[in-house]
Amino acid sequence: MQDSADSHDVVVVGAGFAGLYAVQHVRSLGFSVQGFEAGSDVGGTWYWNRYPGARCDVESVDYSYSFSEELQQEFEWTERFAGQPEILRYMQHVATRFDLYRSIQFDARVVKARYDEQGRRWQVELESGAMCSARFLVLATGPLSVPLVPEVAGMSTFEGSVYQTSQWPKTEVDFTGQRVAVIGTGSSGIQSIPVIAEQCDQLYVFQRTANFSIPAQNSALTREALDQIKANYPERRRLAREDRIGTPYRYRPYGVMEVDEQERARAFEEAWQRGGTHFTKSFTDIVRNEDSNKYAVDFVHRKIKAIIGDPELADALLPKDHPLGSKRICADTNYYQTYLRDNVTLIDLQRTPLVQLYDTGIRTTTTDYPIDSLVLATGFDALTGSFLAINITGPRHQTLRDTWRGGPRTYLGLAVAGYPNLFLLSGPGSPSVLANMVATAEQQVDWLGNLLTHLRQHHLTTAEADPTAQDQWVEHVNELASHTLFMKADSWYLGANVPGKPRVFMPYVGGLHAYRTLCDDIAASDYRGFSFTG
Ligand code: FAD
Ligand code: NAP
Repeated sequence: MQDSADSHDVVVVGAGFAGLYAVQHVRSLGFSVQGFEAGSDVGGTWYWNRYPGARCDVESVDYSYSFSEELQQEFEWTERFAGQPEILRYMQHVATRFDLYRSIQFDARVVKARYDEQGRRWQVELESGAMCSARFLVLATGPLSVPLVPEVAGMSTFEGSVYQTSQWPKTEVDFTGQRVAVIGTGSSGIQSIPVIAEQCDQLYVFQRTANFSIPAQNSALTREALDQIKANYPERRRLAREDRIGTPYRYRPYGVMEVDEQERARAFEEAWQRGGTHFTKSFTDIVRNEDSNKYAVDFVHRKIKAIIGDPELADALLPKDHPLGSKRICADTNYYQTYLRDNVTLIDLQRTPLVQLYDTGIRTTTTDYPIDSLVLATGFDALTGSFLAINITGPRHQTLRDTWRGGPRTYLGLAVAGYPNLFLLSGPGSPSVLANMVATAEQQVDWLGNLLTHLRQHHLTTAEADPTAQDQWVEHVNELASHTLFMKADSWYLGANVPGKPRVFMPYVGGLHAYRTLCDDIAASDYRGFSFTG
């Protein structure tokens, strides 16, 4: 790589919730910033995932930025859980309102980053071959942004249309009159299946593993409800900041088995009626105590059986291979009810595995299903995929791909020993995907802004994680996870969904509030665990 004339204090890669706020905040602190985004607009997750039914599973009024009181007062959310078009519109509004578009280059994928030891700068290269340099490189490339395309035999022979939920076309896809297959029953599949079923002639759902899904209980936000939320926003945000998962709600502060049967049933029913991912918040020990978890599982199993009726179909839909909450709980609208429709068929791949695609359909060990379109809701190379997709080389010519060969190692999920002035947002080792991710993005960006300001004030050139601090952090993250039920699922949290990926539990399970407190404490002690030059 050669030096480029284009040099900045900070390069931010990615313009989702994390990158967009990083550009805004760091620029407001007086640093020169250049953002790069592979997509053609801001939005990140909400730019790419345009599949039918895509919506947030954290309430929109909380799954939104808190850094500007004016912003939170002026934006009008229309639903409890907004759909993808509304969230994308919100992010475009933010980018316009804070004049962020001028600092971001779109259709610009970063492919390489090399640390130039002499100049103490990152040399950044785009897919187009264009280059620039920056003192600080911030990767806001997303924990769920690298689609996982399954290796199904015969894919290239299939003559129909293939859609990946996370690469959905910008133009409307019309399934009217079609026979459609969906592979995958994670959150994306579970959200899209009911909507596709309403439009197409025949829907085949190919399920490898049944997942826990709790009805989102989505509804329109009335004027009155929204006004009330806005009037109490500062308090609502304070409660969210002090919460484990970054939402303002607190429920029963005790374990499942500390209450009698009646109270337990009431609590689970309330949680079901509240809807969605909050189900794991109904008691304090659902993802920590196996016996407590079984009560929650039994409750949800009973609900599924009651909706489905037919015992054989219900049995196929019951999640049985992992504790509730050990994989991300899905939040649906009419998911189980969809299987009562005449035009929907569930194919249980554990009974009849998938064999191949052929020119006009999809084949299992027992049956050929003729289809016009195939929808892949098959997930992501999560948490490390987007960092490792960039060829990153540190000062001693080591690559991040080699450094993380045995699994990711970070300090606070924010920095990697051996890579000065490189910062990850929502990196492995941070709470990221286990909490409200707009809240986690704001917390990390604010903290990073303080670190950069500290460097400037003390005339320091570089900050780098100490290997010992990193080792201790990795150990701490693993130790916390080992006391939970998260280790009992083959989840993408563990990298289990990607063949050959090292099995390491990646997110920090201690919760956003504990993480925030720790990060603040580290900053207050002159950034313990970092070494500086300058
Ligand atoms: P992203 O939004 O993924 O943005 C990363 C951006 O970086 C992308 O636009 C990508 O194009 C760009 N990029 C990546 N690599 C490069 C590169 N090399 N060069 C240039 N650009 C690059 N979380 C919640 O907390 N609540 C929810 O309700 C919720 N719903 C979700 C629904 C879906 C369908 C999905 C997939 C995820 C959901 N998540 C949710 C998780 C979601 O990913 C985060 O909430 C959040 O949007 C992540 O923001 P981000 O900025 O970190 O990453
Ligand atoms: P996912 O949870 O990883 O689900 C992928 C699905 O595809 C699983 O059912 C998986 O089965 C199946 N699959 C993968 N490869 C397959 C193959 N070769 N053959 C058959 N089935 C295969 O991915 P996702 O649904 O996109 O969700 C990822 C995460 O994004 C969520 O956990 C959540 O954090 C976030 N998200 C949130 C929302 C929301 O509600 N707001 C919506 C979408 C996504 P196995 O389980 O057997 O591997």
